[in-house]
Amino acid sequence: MNTGYLKNLKTPIAVAGLGKSGNSAVQLLLAAGFSKDELILFDEKAPQAQVSEPEKLLQLKPKTVVVSPGVPLSSKWVQQLKADGCHITSEISLAASLMTTEKIIGVTGSVGKSTVTSLLGVAVLSFDAHAFVGGNLGTPFSDYAVKKLKGEMPASWVVLELSSYQLENCKNLQLEHSIITFLSANHLERYRSLEEYYSTKFIITDITKGVCIMNKTSEDCEAYASLSRSKVSFVNSTHFSKKDYLSNLALIGSHNKDNFAMAAEMALLCGWPARSITAMTGYKGLSHRLEFVATTGGVTYINDSKATAIDSVLVATRGCLEGLKSENKLFLLLGGKDKNLPWEQLSVLGSNETVTPVFFGQCGQLAKDKSELDGEYFEHLGSAVRYCQRRAKEGDVVLLSPGGTSLDEFKNFEERGDFFKTLVLSEQKN
Ligand code: ADP
Repeated sequence: MNTGYLKNLKTPIAVAGLGKSGNSAVQLLLAAGFSKDELILFDEKAPQAQVSEPEKLLQLKPKTVVVSPGVPLSSKWVQQLKADGCHITSEISLAASLMTTEKIIGVTGSVGKSTVTSLLGVAVLSFDAHAFVGGNLGTPFSDYAVKKLKGEMPASWVVLELSSYQLENCKNLQLEHSIITFLSANHLERYRSLEEYYSTKFIITDITKGVCIMNKTSEDCEAYASLSRSKVSFVNSTHFSKKDYLSNLALIGSHNKDNFAMAAEMALLCGWPARSITAMTGYKGLSHRLEFVATTGGVTYINDSKATAIDSVLVATRGCLEGLKSENKLFLLLGGKDKNLPWEQLSVLGSNETVTPVFFGQCGQLAKDKSELDGEYFEHLGSAVRYCQRRAKEGDVVLLSPGGTSLDEFKNFEERGDFFKTLVLSEQKN
């Protein structure tokens, strides 16, 4: 293993941003032999930070700074450090410097990253027990690097979800192949223009040795494909060599068929065994994102508690309508806490007699008024769910894809989704 890059980092080393990624970088630096005295833990808020003001950090004159994805590289103090000759690096770059025989697949995109990364994870873990799946999703890459430094068996395959912030600062990272899942306007608060944001996504093609698979359904992937520096292959559920698999997917929705198609094409490209694709067909999705909960009394319950944008509600609704017979109903639970959402965009659902909206929570009434959709209103999610349970008949679907945030009744979207699941599963037991 070549530890040269790590060993040659000049000290003091500042780790800027002490979230999951920053803390993992600290562990890696310690495992690589640096002492605590050689590190400066910087964060404007985290309690474990030794320094919380940029001016103080500048006074300490770090020679290296590990910038976490949450910290914009354009921050004045990062630019100042750079101008002073400080080496700018990242948690991903530290970990990447230790890779030897691992073949790495990188996944980026505006939406769909976690789903595609998880699908690929299910695939690799079906034949490589040492495979690593993480990055922006779940476990930081440096956690894997620490284990490797400690002598654990290396993975044959590594699957990394990469945000645009990570791609901006990923020296040393070399990908076998990559995927851009979907491109749409997102995170524009940190970029000056859509072009700048997409250019950051396309950095993934600079570090891809083989092919970058892109979503053919994403108009912007096609429109901006000329920015690619690697070979590109366009894939979606209709441009896919193994369509037979699509009829057996546990995942819900046509967008997930595209996600599956991209992941399965990647498996074929990498020469993974056929059982890895079969394993992906059984993947039910991430918790709280169009997650199948149960079918009880013939009624199917789906938890999409994470949907706090109208686009996501529409994607989920269309996905659930796909398999539904015309005589059945889709009960759509809408509400929560408003964040100035364009509820009026839901009015397109008004012409669909299958969709039965049920409103709840602090913004339920507002959602009903703005969307001009007809439906019952309940003050709390619990009563809205119980109403659906009483009304739904065999073959119907109840979908929690609320649009509003969870904060009127719950700590976060996970707690709201878990509450929904508990109500559904407790009925199953009765
Ligand atoms: P990310 O990790 O990029 O945030 P996820 O995989 O968690 O993305 O999906 C988040 C949401 O994005 C989904 O619930 C769905 O609404 C939407 N989405 C996912 N994949 C796609 C796709 N291929 N096309 C369009 N929308 C998608």
